[in-house]
Amino acid sequence: MNLTVLMNAGPWLSVPPPGYGGIENVIATLVPELRQLGVRVVLASVGSSTLAADERVSVFPDGQFAALQRPYNQVCGIAQAHLAGVVRELHARDDIDLVHDHVEAVGLATLAAMGPSGPPTLHTLHWDLAKHPALYGALDGGDRVRVNGVSAAQLARAPRALQEHSVGHVHLSTPLAVDADRRARPEKGEHLLILGRINPGKGQDVGVRLAHRVGVPLVLAGPVGPYHRPADLVAAGDEARQNPDVRFFLDEVAPHVDGELVRWVGTVAGQERDDLLASARASLFPLRWEEPGGTAVVESLALGTPVVATARGCLPELIEQGRTGLLTDDEEELDDLVLAAELLDTDECRTVAAQRFTPAVMAQRYVELYDRVCQPTGEP
Ligand code: UDP
Repeated sequence: MNLTVLMNAGPWLSVPPPGYGGIENVIATLVPELRQLGVRVVLASVGSSTLAADERVSVFPDGQFAALQRPYNQVCGIAQAHLAGVVRELHARDDIDLVHDHVEAVGLATLAAMGPSGPPTLHTLHWDLAKHPALYGALDGGDRVRVNGVSAAQLARAPRALQEHSVGHVHLSTPLAVDADRRARPEKGEHLLILGRINPGKGQDVGVRLAHRVGVPLVLAGPVGPYHRPADLVAAGDEARQNPDVRFFLDEVAPHVDGELVRWVGTVAGQERDDLLASARASLFPLRWEEPGGTAVVESLALGTPVVATARGCLPELIEQGRTGLLTDDEEELDDLVLAAELLDTDECRTVAAQRFTPAVMAQRYVELYDRVCQPTGEP
């Protein structure tokens, strides 16, 4: 495909991210596939990004993630400074066919404000948007600016202005899905795994109580606020409680973490993460928020681990009930489902992942959307 895309990853983390980084991971997965399809990619990110691209643009030398803890106006200031650099670049050249933007709200508003002088823009929505209606309130980019979601459920909850500019959704993918159906099958252990940020929306408090009730070992993997290792959280002392996710963990989750039946192992990465996931009897997602995209869900399937979850957000789109997982609207039913998950065929999980959630499938779908966004009529 003969297209030059400016991929705007934003100023928060390098691409690929050093550890946690959902959006940056999506970009790191998508860009190589796009280039395989002949798309030229200009990566707008921070100087420390190592992802191979045809060209790069950056304002900040390193990721500004730590600044996200600061007041909202300062956070916006950093996003604006990055975007000013992107806009300067767009004004300075005429070979960019399309901007694919991932910078929450601010990115879209800035690019829309370029008016008819800017290239067509596709903005990917990454969050549960029902929570941010004001951020996305006015969208005045005319036919030039379009959005896509990461699930149909996410778009259905989006503010009207976004729905009117939507060109559809593209499910998330994982490199683990490549040849997932042909990989060796590691031995299954006894444990359940909840993989993700520790946060009320992800429902770890429900999970830890469940584990004690049914007597099944549970591993919690993921950061608590900015703390990636249990020792870091302990060392931070009382100051850590300023972070709402830390308060949630200390008050609702930690009292049930006994270090034996229920363990918190902090953030896991690389092979350690994959082994923990592949050897789990099931992945548990006792969600309280409407999960928008669910990368950890597709990773679980790719590693042959069925999913047990509350049927919220994108889960019913990603999980085939009774084949790759068990979903319920009733939190109390999770106890039974966790035990029943043993009956599911782990090969089915891998097969579905290899068909639906590979980076190639995701890139193909984005190329289709790029095509539509670049049409002169801009028909959504
Ligand atoms: N993740 C990880 N180590 C952890 C916890 C999470 O590598 O200890 C990764 C996880 O594998 C997934 C991403 O972080 O790739 C989380 O993305 P997801 O869409 O599941 O959740 P989000 O945090 O974006 O809501």
